[in-house]
Amino acid sequence: MDFKLKVTIGLWTIIGLAILLGPNETQSNFAIAIHGGAGTITRENMTAEKELAYRFKLAEALNTGYTILKNGGTSLDAVEVTIRVMEDSELFNAGKGAVFTNAGTNELDASIMDGSNLMAGAVAGVKTVKNPISAARKVMEETWHVMLSGDGADKFAQEQNLEVVDPIYFYTQRRWDSLKKTQAKKHGTVGCVALDKHGNLAAGTSTGGLTNKQWGRIGDSPIIGAGTYANNQTCAVSGTGQGEYFIRGNVAYDISAMMEYENTTVGEAARQVIGKLSERGGEGGVIAMDSNGEISMPFNTAGMYRGFRKDGSPAKIFIYKN
Ligand code: ASP
Repeated sequence: MDFKLKVTIGLWTIIGLAILLGPNETQSNFAIAIHGGAGTITRENMTAEKELAYRFKLAEALNTGYTILKNGGTSLDAVEVTIRVMEDSELFNAGKGAVFTNAGTNELDASIMDGSNLMAGAVAGVKTVKNPISAARKVMEETWHVMLSGDGADKFAQEQNLEVVDPIYFYTQRRWDSLKKTQAKKHGTVGCVALDKHGNLAAGTSTGGLTNKQWGRIGDSPIIGAGTYANNQTCAVSGTGQGEYFIRGNVAYDISAMMEYENTTVGEAARQVIGKLSERGGEGGVIAMDSNGEISMPFNTAGMYRGFRKDGSPAKIFIYKN
């Protein structure tokens, strides 16, 4: 073989190896984390059967989003579809299983945010949209607004061909009984944060709000910066807890801002912000993920349904503090 040919083959071998071994999309990290609400969730008031049902549904939701990310799907798709799984389950206070207002109605809130371009969408006080998280995404993608509320949002969802249901669909005996007992702090909101193989973060949150809330009340979950936030430069956050405190504290954005302005890690920022929430008398927790897939899930309640799954590792589900 002549020298020129040898050099050419050598060069092409090096280029080929560089393409194979160099950083490419399929090798980058991806991760997903979810919550199913924070509150007085203790071993004492949990049955083995109930715990299993929660663990099973949380794992199903987590694995659904994980598969989307593994196949190269976007974090936005993973967040939306994962939340839909939890909205369709009676176990959580979102979609089917939403709590009742003091007027005996179900009024649902949801929001979603794309960390790659800071676009966001939300719906508040909807009564007929089966999956409010999808309506939130439609607001983001199909309108120039960030939030639609009440009848206008329901009408918009219908026009977007999203599934609408009779309000009776949201009736569940368990939530009705809890309204009657007026357990004013019943939690169970759902949320998801994800990092996809393309390096983009997204976050979403969906809820029925607080049991026995004043009808017309809107919590933090549909408010960008309070219950949901995502920015590729910092982190993706979804919160759960007493919405009024989350709104006043700008909880989700506060975590992002600490990372942006003070170079704080996601773990430290999330812990500090939950610390501030406690000082102000608020209860709740967050799931937060940075652009490297680092995850933090602090809360100041007895428990928080939560879980995460990272590229190549099995799903991890937690309920209680320890
Ligand atoms: N944050 C929700 C709200 O205040 C409730 C919850 O997360 O449990 O509407």
